[in-house]
Amino acid sequence: MRTIGGVALAIFDLDNTLIDRAGAFRRWAEGFAAGCELGAGEVDWLERADGDGYTPRERLVAAILERYGVRVPVERLRAELVECVEVDPVVPRRLDELRAAGWKVAVATNGATAQQWAKLRRTGLDAHVDAVAVSEEVGAGKPDLRMFVAAAERCGERLTAETWMTGDCPVRDVGGARSAGLRTVWLHRGRRWEHGEPGPDEVAGDIAAAFDSLCRLAGGVSTP
Ligand SMILES: [Mg+2]
Repeated sequence: MRTIGGVALAIFDLDNTLIDRAGAFRRWAEGFAAGCELGAGEVDWLERADGDGYTPRERLVAAILERYGVRVPVERLRAELVECVEVDPVVPRRLDELRAAGWKVAVATNGATAQQWAKLRRTGLDAHVDAVAVSEEVGAGKPDLRMFVAAAERCGERLTAETWMTGDCPVRDVGGARSAGLRTVWLHRGRRWEHGEPGPDEVAGDIAAAFDSLCRLAGGVSTP
């Protein structure tokens, strides 16, 4: 394996990168709609209200209360969403391959500490990474440099030009990492890059393709 300036370090976003957060919300919305005997179109409304997870939870539950007259406590929503999270089996396997090849692997995720850790434990991903940084406990969220520094330091490493950040958010993941001097893989999720140049170093259609890019470009483990 080729590394420049020390151990190769790969930092990953969690939601809609290592785990299918959008799928988890849709499963939750389908269950909620069925429980309330709502029309099928309401699942789409709930997805729009969720804003891909970026709508503040208090605002989301207020919108649900206003539309359906159903009070969903934020903590219950968070717990139920965790129950809906699934992980593609390729993810832990590819993380293990990276680490077996000498990489350090970290997660840098924005969100509430308890909920993000609950997702990691439910999927078992906590056993397949060297370190985790959650914005709530770091005290800053991506794209803030402190998140990337925290992820590296918790691996016993520092950020270098050979550190890779993989994520789906153009601003928080790619923009933040580029500002920190890192190399980037962007999961496009069907979107075009419309956030100026230079764009990400690599664009991937799914997490498996993102792992392929990391391995190919950084000279890491070969793909099976
Ligand atoms: Mg994400």
